[in-house]
Amino acid sequence: MKTKRLYYTDSNLLSFKSRIIETRLEDNKHITILEKTAFYPTSGGQQHDIGMLEKVPVIDVIDGEQILHLTESAVGKVGEIVTGNIDYKRRHKNKQQHSAQHILSQSFYRLYNLTTMSVHLGESYGNIEFDTKGISIEQLQKAEQLSNQIIAENRTVEVFMAHPDNLSKYNLRRPPKRTGEIRLISIDDFECTACGGTHVKATSEIQLVKIISTEKIRGRVAVNFLSGQQAIDDYVIRFGVTDSLTKKLTCSVSDVESHFDKLVEHNKRYKRELTLMQKELIPLRIDESIANVEFIDNTPVVFAIETRFDKNTINHFATQLAIKCNGIAVLLYNDKIILSCADISNQHAGNIANFVSTETNLRGGGSKNLAQLGGALADNFDLYKEKIREFVHLGNNEN
Ligand SMILES: [Zn+2]
Repeated sequence: MKTKRLYYTDSNLLSFKSRIIETRLEDNKHITILEKTAFYPTSGGQQHDIGMLEKVPVIDVIDGEQILHLTESAVGKVGEIVTGNIDYKRRHKNKQQHSAQHILSQSFYRLYNLTTMSVHLGESYGNIEFDTKGISIEQLQKAEQLSNQIIAENRTVEVFMAHPDNLSKYNLRRPPKRTGEIRLISIDDFECTACGGTHVKATSEIQLVKIISTEKIRGRVAVNFLSGQQAIDDYVIRFGVTDSLTKKLTCSVSDVESHFDKLVEHNKRYKRELTLMQKELIPLRIDESIANVEFIDNTPVVFAIETRFDKNTINHFATQLAIKCNGIAVLLYNDKIILSCADISNQHAGNIANFVSTETNLRGGGSKNLAQLGGALADNFDLYKEKIREFVHLGNNEN
């Protein structure tokens, strides 16, 4: 027996009573089939309703001749009359989204002759795939404008069944996919399409439609949109961000972008200037560091903690320091050890790094002149120094 679909004739019906005609267990989910139901099953791109059957939450609703209600526990026994309650928030969002989609689809069709190929009304936004390779920003704006005009005009939305022989008088946006009696959704003098979904009763219930992005799918363009409460929630988030930015930048919303571009430009310039200034600082820091030179056997080594250079300059500094002291420079720089060996020292920075990494938990490596180890801790700098002294001393004795 086919399930009678109560939402077909009344999409505002949120509470109903019905008799259980079948129950079964599939993949650990309880399935309940009712004589009639107001629960909308996932179909036509629209998400299923959620809600309660008696005191049991309905987690999924599956379409077919018979509508299946999925729950984690049993709802009742065959023959029992149960009460169903539909979650208003989700139903309301689905209605707003689905009616908004019809209006958007019709707007793109009227203005640019674009055919709707598929629809996906998701949890966070709706998506309409159009049979076209491209839609301009101006076209998006015009279609959105027309849609919001239709919403503001509070046009009546009607749902009715039509005989297949009479369809020619309805000026349908596209031919129906089903045969037999067809359920039509008509938006007063604007749109008429075959559809099984739940819809608002008048367009002002949709409140607002906002196109948020486009994407390419299957070589076509899909338009992503928000409607109703989704669009309002999004506005609250966006307002919060722009309001905070206008206060921080002390400018109007329309100037935020140019202020931001200026900041990015300034930032680039300061970085360039900082690099130049750091290069000028190098000789001074070399003199300071070299004062602490120590000798491992006859090899000069400078150990230093360095914080003043940025990552573009630190390797240059290490190399210069090693050359200037005719030996090895070892820098603790943030969480790194940077090693540089001057050619004259006959030491190999990469080999020193390999030895230290086998003796500690530092990781890295490098070439003869420059090497780097990551994962360094300031508290362990003495340990790293000891390992380096050990390796250089052993190497010197071998020579
Ligand atoms: Zn529809």
